[in-house]
Amino acid sequence: MQFINDLNLKKQAEELGVKIWQTPGFMFIIMGIVAFIVMTATFLISRNYDDPKVLVLAESIVAGIIIIVGNSVVRIVGEIASVNKMKSEFVSVVSHQLRTPLSAIKWETELLLSKLRKGLNEKQLKNIETIGSLSCRMTRLVNDLLDVTRIDQKRLVLKYEPVDLAAIIEKTIAESESLLSSRNIELIFSNNKKNPKVIGDQERLKLVVDNLLNNAIKYTTQKGKIEIKLTKSGGDLVFSVRDNGVGIPEEQHSQVFSKFFRSDNVVKYQTEGTGLGLYIAKNIVEQLGGKIWFQSIENVGSIFSFSLPVKKKSFIKEKKLFDNFN
Ligand code: ADP
Repeated sequence: MQFINDLNLKKQAEELGVKIWQTPGFMFIIMGIVAFIVMTATFLISRNYDDPKVLVLAESIVAGIIIIVGNSVVRIVGEIASVNKMKSEFVSVVSHQLRTPLSAIKWETELLLSKLRKGLNEKQLKNIETIGSLSCRMTRLVNDLLDVTRIDQKRLVLKYEPVDLAAIIEKTIAESESLLSSRNIELIFSNNKKNPKVIGDQERLKLVVDNLLNNAIKYTTQKGKIEIKLTKSGGDLVFSVRDNGVGIPEEQHSQVFSKFFRSDNVVKYQTEGTGLGLYIAKNIVEQLGGKIWFQSIENVGSIFSFSLPVKKKSFIKEKKLFDNFN
């Protein structure tokens, strides 16, 4: 199946944003044709001519053709790699540059809302609050883009320290309280108080929990019920969040953790979202030595889970050593 897909040159060209003759599939076909012609010609020449000079000449021509075709392939692969690197650098520079003005907007709005609140009327207050929440949204997007660039360039540096996952969940629930009540969603958190700490990065794990809980809220429409569980399983602690929301169509399950994925059933009604959250969450959890997975049925609901080790795994110790060295 993948082989047939590789030969669909038009689709490949559209996906990569290049001309048909620049696609890897086109190069693959050309190389196949060249190999076939060259082998047939060598066979015919060796059958009809006994003269070693003719054979040497034929082999030199074959070698020349292979070098020319091989060189074009290497050049195209090199160009793709360098464009990819330029794209990552561009996203990284733009995101860094956007962070400074965004922080300034955040501080200014916070100042207006705290110290200068008395001088503002209701409409002005509402407008400033909107500016504040929009700038927070943009900061999150910029941070997500920076994280994606770090992940793609294998530069995401994580801490490996004991983390109280239950405390992170409680903090995230508290922050989501107003959203939960405005959407009339009931939330239950069952936690065994004796659960151990996990080894991870406090700040990044907050991001993961935030993303999974916010998705459960965002993609739950009517009579919402969300349940969070934290359980111990072997040497791991397992986090699960279950919702009775819109679910994910089965045919799209394989793409859920891909970059920019948004399922067809949500893009129609939920315009807010980038499709980066789960990609980042998967990379963080896996880099910490854990696993992330989900079950989902369209129009029934979803369960998103991740597990993390409660003890430092030996490869994590090694990784820390290398991170410190870099
Ligand atoms: P975003 O929510 O910003 O679109 P994510 O990477 O967090 O990005 O999620 C990717 C997609 O996976 C979502 O757009 C949605 O289609 C689907 N999804 C994630 N969590 C849920 C959920 N709890 N219920 C239904 N769909 C979900």
